[in-house]
Amino acid sequence: MSKAAEDRIFGSYLFKNYANKGKLEKINQVLTEYRKTAKDIAIYLWDIFFRFGKFPHRKKINIKHISSYLSERYKYVCLWQVYDILSGYIAGIQYKFANIVFNSSLSREDKLILLALNNVKGWLVYDKDEIEIYERKGKDIEKRTVKVSEFHKKLAKKIFKYLLGKNRKPRFNNISMHLDGKVVDISKKKENKAVEFDYWIKIATLEKGKPIYIPLKANTYAEELEGEFLNYCQVVENNGRVEFRIIKQLKKKEYIPLIDEIAIDLGLNPLFATSKGDLIGRNFFDVLKAFDEKITKRMASLQKRNIRPRDDKKYRQYVDKLRDYLKNEINRLINRLIKIYRPKKIVVEMLDFRSPDLSKRLNRLVQNFGKKYIKQKLQRLQQLYGIEIMEINPAYTSQECSSCGYVDKKNRKDTQEFECRACGNKTNAQINGARNILKRSSLGSLHLTKKQVLKILIERYLERLKGCKSPPLDILKGNPYFKDYLRAVSTHFEAKDQALPRQSSEKCQGTLESILNPCQGLTSS
Ligand SMILES: [Zn+2]
Repeated sequence: MSKAAEDRIFGSYLFKNYANKGKLEKINQVLTEYRKTAKDIAIYLWDIFFRFGKFPHRKKINIKHISSYLSERYKYVCLWQVYDILSGYIAGIQYKFANIVFNSSLSREDKLILLALNNVKGWLVYDKDEIEIYERKGKDIEKRTVKVSEFHKKLAKKIFKYLLGKNRKPRFNNISMHLDGKVVDISKKKENKAVEFDYWIKIATLEKGKPIYIPLKANTYAEELEGEFLNYCQVVENNGRVEFRIIKQLKKKEYIPLIDEIAIDLGLNPLFATSKGDLIGRNFFDVLKAFDEKITKRMASLQKRNIRPRDDKKYRQYVDKLRDYLKNEINRLINRLIKIYRPKKIVVEMLDFRSPDLSKRLNRLVQNFGKKYIKQKLQRLQQLYGIEIMEINPAYTSQECSSCGYVDKKNRKDTQEFECRACGNKTNAQINGARNILKRSSLGSLHLTKKQVLKILIERYLERLKGCKSPPLDILKGNPYFKDYLRAVSTHFEAKDQALPRQSSEKCQGTLESILNPCQGLTSS
């Protein structure tokens, strides 16, 4: 991708439509035909791919022969969308191919040749006998031309086919329509005109020369973002309802980081805590609680009357308002955080965030939308400011003491307070969590299992115990996490009836050594 293309950032924003049933029905017909055409185009492109080893060049594709009720213009809009989706799919395979080769036990030379084949997309068809390979020699990159044997060609084909089998091809059954100026025209309402709608989309239908006009209300959030709306709209199906999204090209912001990294712990009360000790969004929970009361009350009333919530306008309004609130709060508060700290990197855990003090229904709503909005927001920060986002494995971040590293279920007294049973450290539970998340970034542990994380934490803690800021042994013994580590020495300690002292002393060094190295401890005493 060229530098210029990378710098372009697009957002897609939902605009509420006020189209009548007849218009929406026509849009649905277009959508159905569009999907069918997309499938036919995909079949055609795959056919070429398997015969020639790659998709045809953009300029050389001709789809006149593909029959469809869509106009030729529509067909080409559809073609480019399909082409991009399939190219993206192949790019994913290419990436996985490289990974397989990297991690294989092949010789270095074989790896270089296969990677070169992968680079030129020579998986299925490669009709030359030589290929250029690039090799790093110190600071320089050396280029060599080498022979490609049948072995390499066959292996490349085999790996590629294996990956095709493992990764389902795009199916186009439910795609949205990504429509550009060839088939849509978006216009803002004329000044002084007493029409209540802010935008109109003129959109071509299956009937030639009979476009329809979809009235839209403005999206104030999208309106305020710096950038430019494009004449480009997405028609999306959401729960059987058609929605319209307009694309805006956003302006990349200049950003000079002040600090290296900050960690945030997502919760509900407050919305998040930072490793710097802030609690942000303190009244977030109260607002949710108020939503919960309204929604629960409405649900009870609907149940009595045997009405499904999604058929109730008022219920849907409440949920829409909740979504808006979540989106706005998350945006507002994360923006504030960025403004204060200007971090280079943000470390987060993607935990469930729900509260026992909210109803099941509200928890589910908050969980679904909240998580989605936070992910979107973080992604946007990455694009707009170049802030690195790191997601870590959240296992035990709520039970670990951020001060001494001791992990214990009982450390967490309730949802608000954290008190370490080993060192006595007392802090807000969420801030403690955020600090652990920051420490966790060094583990890069998203791919570790929960068990592996615990093992590392326990071993780290025991290692640190050499410093002797340690709990009485009976606390460790009562903690199931330490069971496997202490079994070997517990009888030894019981015999001596000796608890580990809290403060460091010369004598304590010896006993702690014996916890870390049970065998050594037993023989030396
Ligand atoms: Zn502690």
